[in-house]
Amino acid sequence: MMDNDPSWFALELPTADTRLIALLGDPVGHSLSPVIQNAAFQAAEVDGVYLALQCATSELPGLLKGLARAGGGGNVTLPHKAQAAGLLEHRTDAVLRTGACNTFWLEDGRICGDNTDVQGFSAASLCVAGDLAGARVLLLGAGGAARAALVSLLDAKVDSVAILNRTVETAASLSQEFHTDRVSVNALAGMDSLPGERYDLVVNATSLGLGRDDPLPLDLRLPRSVGVVLDMVYSPGETPWVRHARRLGIKASDGLEMLIQQAASAFRHWWRSEPSLKAMRDVVRLLGNHTGADSR
Ligand code: NAP
Repeated sequence: MMDNDPSWFALELPTADTRLIALLGDPVGHSLSPVIQNAAFQAAEVDGVYLALQCATSELPGLLKGLARAGGGGNVTLPHKAQAAGLLEHRTDAVLRTGACNTFWLEDGRICGDNTDVQGFSAASLCVAGDLAGARVLLLGAGGAARAALVSLLDAKVDSVAILNRTVETAASLSQEFHTDRVSVNALAGMDSLPGERYDLVVNATSLGLGRDDPLPLDLRLPRSVGVVLDMVYSPGETPWVRHARRLGIKASDGLEMLIQQAASAFRHWWRSEPSLKAMRDVVRLLGNHTGADSR
């Protein structure tokens, strides 16, 4: 029994000084963020605890502001990222350009927010594809993840991004927001145009791959050539699309590195110090039987 064993006092228990960092979203039950962040907190020996809180739209303002004002902070996931961006008192460039916030904290008395998916995508694409300056990119999807990828790709000075999305209108309105002729829209009906194309990088930013019976986001035999594939979806081992790419001899990576890198970027905002990427990667590998895809 604990009562008879004085060693339990030696455990690192939360105290009145412990900072509460929380994930706000609906649903949150699938999230890997609590294990990734708590592993990083322990490795860095910071006094914080990370919890996942399911919350409705009407509860977001109170929870986000309350957590930040109490000296904590957090992450925000679907469906609240756009609403969170509107609650901030200071927005990073990534929030302003994507209209979404996935990380918040208190700084100089102001509630600040970032969209670390942009930085996460930049770091992950650098790992898998190297310098993207001058690259021709095919981007599958036009939701929040695609928007973050687009900001990162344009900053990396790619030559062009062709967006291919199920709903052409969504892709068209995303592309128009960026006011650049480097971004174009490829309608699904425009698959016929792919055989002539060479892409240095093809990115899956659709939800395809989350469901067991999902079709592949794209048959990679369609374009004339594909240099590298980055699937934002993550699953232990490899995603079906990554497997498909590797069978064709194409270098491919799933969303794990982006997941880790966006989490690392959030950690830096909360703690003003460098997280252990190794601790974050190790704990995800330990959870090898997890079937989740998104980070948060
Ligand atoms: P979202 O805003 O809901 O966008 C979903 C996108 O997927 C839209 O473009 C949608 O097309 C497309 N889509 C959905 N079902 C489809 C289907 N059956 N066939 C073809 N296209 C379909 O979601 P999101 O936040 O952008 O997330 C997209 C993916 O990225 C998710 O798998 C998420 O897990 C992943 N993600 C990963 C990370 C990471 O760190 N690795 C970070 C963020 C997101 P329509 O416009 O036609 O609906």
